[in-house]
Amino acid sequence: MLTMHVGIDDTDSPRKGCTTYVASLLVEKLSQLGVSFIDYPNLVRLNPNVPWKTRGNGALCLRFRCDEKLASEIMELTIDTVEKNSDMDCAGTDPGVVFFEGSQVPEELTFFARQAIQGLVKLKEALKLIRAVKAEALGFNSGRGIIGALAAVGETLTGDHTYELIAYRIPENCGTSRRVDVSSIELMAKKTVPLTFNNFDADKRRVLITPHGPDPILYGIRGENPSIVKHAHRMVHALEPIERWTIFRTNHGTDAHLRRVDSIGAAFPYQPVIVSGTVTQKPQVIPRRHVVFSIGDKTGKIDCAAYEPTQDLRKAAQLLIVGDMVEAFGGVRSKSGKRAVTINLEKLNVVKLAPKVVFHNPLCPRCGKRMESMGAGQGFRCKLCKFRSSALEKMPVEEKRLLKMELYVTSPRSQRHLTKPLSRYGLEKSGKPKRMMRNWFGVNG
Ligand SMILES: [Zn+2]
Repeated sequence: MLTMHVGIDDTDSPRKGCTTYVASLLVEKLSQLGVSFIDYPNLVRLNPNVPWKTRGNGALCLRFRCDEKLASEIMELTIDTVEKNSDMDCAGTDPGVVFFEGSQVPEELTFFARQAIQGLVKLKEALKLIRAVKAEALGFNSGRGIIGALAAVGETLTGDHTYELIAYRIPENCGTSRRVDVSSIELMAKKTVPLTFNNFDADKRRVLITPHGPDPILYGIRGENPSIVKHAHRMVHALEPIERWTIFRTNHGTDAHLRRVDSIGAAFPYQPVIVSGTVTQKPQVIPRRHVVFSIGDKTGKIDCAAYEPTQDLRKAAQLLIVGDMVEAFGGVRSKSGKRAVTINLEKLNVVKLAPKVVFHNPLCPRCGKRMESMGAGQGFRCKLCKFRSSALEKMPVEEKRLLKMELYVTSPRSQRHLTKPLSRYGLEKSGKPKRMMRNWFGVNG
């Protein structure tokens, strides 16, 4: 028996397909061949800030034990399935497949995966590593998908992780609007939260489990363990046929992409970071778009932007004043790929509030009424008793701050796959599942 890890990435295009679907097809085919899975299919989201990726940027890895005699058949089957289900003709779709044999995933691969999740890696580095660890790889078109495929093999999800059950549509329905009973989703969320998350936005009464594109996903239900997502799936009434469903283990909702950097000077373009700083410039509100403020430390300054759909986060950002200490969480954008200029906020932690001082006109020393100004540098006069003085000055008064010292997170509908929602704080876990549940995928409903 040997242990095999099969990584796949970038089979989809904006007009069709989904790499999780290819993995789901392979799960069925490989089971029929008699392999025994040692983990749920791993769905690994990579750095969402890489410039050439506009979609989810998720790569897949299947891990199983099988008879050595089956190895070449498995490889052929995989390649064939990827070829038939990739949108190969679409520019920018560059599928990659990586095969690695071994009961232990080498540390170099885990390190490479971390780089692909938190930063940028090059195809050249991936190919070099593939040779070093004696893996095998196949790339279509530019072969860029090999990067994600290798990273998926390397990320064994031994740290914090979550689960997603994805149900797929029959091919003839792809491209039409999705039919699911909204009230069943609302009820499911009500009964399973906080063990499920980001499936239904109770405030806006908005369904979050259904995507909107032409891909084959009917819905994806997120949760903390395999049984809860399966239970939730049974509670959802689909109003159209489900071709198949599969439970994935994933880094969704774990903040795996964010890396804490020591200083603002160490925040580089395209990296998702957590960085501390002091507010140096009052928030600017750009109506209907975003709020921008600047933070600084001794190494430099950077803008932070909170966009309209981020709601609470945007409202919090608006209340910041110069001198507040914050931690900014988000992807670093740049100008022409060189200088880090803006952090697109996913979260904002308000660490320390500066006193907000406002200046009021002085009280009249004779009658106690609030005086009025006679113009800049002209002193004050009392309307009531007519007392005038040029010696009096405005009085500093500390105003109550409306902002709280807490963590503000983007609203669920604008959260990235990787963003850890507030509801998951305290539910973090580590380690691999000791054993798998019996029926973790299904074909035909
Ligand atoms: Zn007076």
